[in-house]
Amino acid sequence: KKLRVGILFGGRSGEHEVSLLSAASVLKAIDRKKFDVVPIGITKQGHWLAPGDAHSLLAGDTSAVARRLRAGDPEATPGAKLLHEGIPTLMVPEPANGESAAKAALSPASPAMLDVVFPVLHGTFGEDGTIQGLFELAGIPYVGSGVLGSSAGMDKDVMKRLFAQAGLPIVKHVTILRSEWEKSPKKAIAQIEKVLKYPVFVKPANLGSSVGISKAHDRKTLGPALDEAAKYDRKLVIEQGVGGELRKGKLGPKARELEVAVLGNDDPKASVVGEIIPGKEFYDYEAKYLSEGSVPIIPAKLTRAESKQIREMAVAAFRACDLAGLARVDFLMEPSGKRRIYINEVNTLPGFTQISMYPKLWEATGVPYTELITRLIEFALERDCEKK
Ligand code: ATP
Ligand code: MG
Ligand code: MG
Ligand code: MG
Repeated sequence: KKLRVGILFGGRSGEHEVSLLSAASVLKAIDRKKFDVVPIGITKQGHWLAPGDAHSLLAGDTSAVARRLRAGDPEATPGAKLLHEGIPTLMVPEPANGESAAKAALSPASPAMLDVVFPVLHGTFGEDGTIQGLFELAGIPYVGSGVLGSSAGMDKDVMKRLFAQAGLPIVKHVTILRSEWEKSPKKAIAQIEKVLKYPVFVKPANLGSSVGISKAHDRKTLGPALDEAAKYDRKLVIEQGVGGELRKGKLGPKARELEVAVLGNDDPKASVVGEIIPGKEFYDYEAKYLSEGSVPIIPAKLTRAESKQIREMAVAAFRACDLAGLARVDFLMEPSGKRRIYINEVNTLPGFTQISMYPKLWEATGVPYTELITRLIEFALERDCEKK
């Protein structure tokens, strides 16, 4: 019997468009001999769409979404267009019995008929444990980390505490609340400058795709960077920049950006190490999705000892945050000298198009895209069986 797999995508996140691209790839590649697929789109406003309308959210033409993204028009998604045209946005199927009634009540898009869900969602309300809580309540197995792992992996402040506790090397950092920054900016700046040297990276604690992140080279640019991050979160993380110092108006060599894909549950495995060469001063939103200048190198040029160390650290980070299913673990390496390696972050639902780093790393390690999707679904079911 074929398993019915719900593919969730879109969502109330700054990474909505990226999710559409990831989901379109998954829908195209998923093994239809093994799985019956139910696409469930979530609009930017948070409305859940039934399968037919979900297809329209993808518009059958994701290259159009990519084009609009490149044109810098994130509002012009098919999802937004759908809403303007007044297509019904919420459909609750007639429940067959008490149990499915409960499930249907929890998840408007008819999860009562689903065996497993793959949330192909990135960022807020998708990667952060909130939707995972809904699946737990509804008793539906799902791909990826649980509530705790997802939320810990989304919070750059909490994540760093878990890394540090596991003995993983992290950059120096300061965490301040938006309220503290707003109440006494001078004190906040003094607190940051006491611990860190410029350049620093200022980040909203809970986000992704570099949204709200800026690099500050001096006190003059630190204030606006904190204001920008404070638009997105009540908690701000300020980090010691690795590489990329400004000296006499010239930018020094940037940090090397290394990424590892981890797959599994209690016995997670690490892929080969990949490297991203960002086309800009750092790997910001534009460099990630809008310009074509960022180059992936798989495997990264490292010594054997360095790759081994990085892969072990990736698995240790996965365990430290209590993750499951999948994660992309990102590192920063000093561009010269001691080539010190720092763990930057985990991403529990990383970009998942066929050409995204996570699937490419597994492809290079011997797991093709379609098989990767199958394995992730199997890990979701395995985790669920173990729990009950
Ligand atoms: P993702 O899309 O991977 O989830 P994110 O929004 O969680 O990204 P980070 O990965 O923390 O953000 O940072 C984005 C980018 O900023 C990095 O890929 C890197 O280019 C740069 N960067 C972040 N922190 C530092 C640092 N401490 N030193 C040097 N560069 C950094
Ligand atoms: Mg991230
Ligand atoms: Mg992310
Ligand atoms: Mg990152």
